[in-house]
Amino acid sequence: MKIINHLFHLKTGDGIKIYNITPQIEERTSRSQITNGQAIVFSRHTTTAIAINENEERLFADLVDYLEKLAPPNAPYLHNDLHLRDVPPDEPENAHSHLMAITLSTSEVIPIAEGKLALGKWQSVLLLELDGPREREVFVQLSGV
Ligand code: ZN
Repeated sequence: MKIINHLFHLKTGDGIKIYNITPQIEERTSRSQITNGQAIVFSRHTTTAIAINENEERLFADLVDYLEKLAPPNAPYLHNDLHLRDVPPDEPENAHSHLMAITLSTSEVIPIAEGKLALGKWQSVLLLELDGPREREVFVQLSGV
């Protein structure tokens, strides 16, 4: 069995932004020459998420509205009492971003079959930035035969 690790770097935009990272994962999958196995896509952060869904701009706007209803950015949060925490001077007030990330997922597993990601027609792998702008890292582990 082969195991191949990749670390992708992404510079994200302001606030909540959604990125389609399917092409990068597809490219690495085809280069790996793995015929059957799986791809684990894992975000190394506490204010991002990985999701599989439709790559559609208006849906992304709906998703931002939905997440902001679940965890309104301007609501009071204990995590935002920065004067009560031991934090660096540039620490952001980002409790809502953590809560959104906890509600979502840090990783997804995608089967690899016949050398390709076995995604459905409308499925894309999405990175959700919940507290941008930042430098982000997505770890992808491909394994199989
Ligand atoms: Zn925080």
